[in-house]
Amino acid sequence: MPDNCIFCQIVAEQAPAHRVIEDDLAVAFCDIFPIATGHTLVIPRQHAANVFEIDEEPMRATAALARRVSHALRDALAPDGLAVYQANGAAAGQTVWHYHVHLIPRNDGEPLAFHGRTRADDAELAAMAKRIAGHLPG
Ligand code: AMP
Ligand code: ZN
Repeated sequence: MPDNCIFCQIVAEQAPAHRVIEDDLAVAFCDIFPIATGHTLVIPRQHAANVFEIDEEPMRATAALARRVSHALRDALAPDGLAVYQANGAAAGQTVWHYHVHLIPRNDGEPLAFHGRTRADDAELAAMAKRIAGHLPG
């Protein structure tokens, strides 16, 4: 694992995260600077900086978990829409160099932003992770 990769540390449980669900190849957890309520990240366990480095199998697994969590977000929060985005390179807005897919519930009239400015409250994130997970079949 790269020494200073925060997402590798989350995978290894060396850094805290409000996990929604995980499987053998991927992990989903709440973004700590959420753009919207329920903003969730899905990452492969195996480190890869972005789409240019990731192998097909972890990318497929990340997409599959993102699909499951998308359904759970819709069931839990009933947003008007859901944005799925994934940045590669600083010019595309990437700030964490471990491949990740953003799942962002969207509601009519809310302004679009790429990054949140406010660190979310941990108790609220813990409750949100539980709420989303409650809509995932075991
Ligand atoms: P990007 O800018 O597309 O690379 O997205 C990185 C995302 O990771 C941002 O939305 C950050 O808020 C989020 N983030 C950074 N550190 C953490 C962390 N320790 N736990 C959860 N989310 C994080
Ligand atoms: Zn990493």
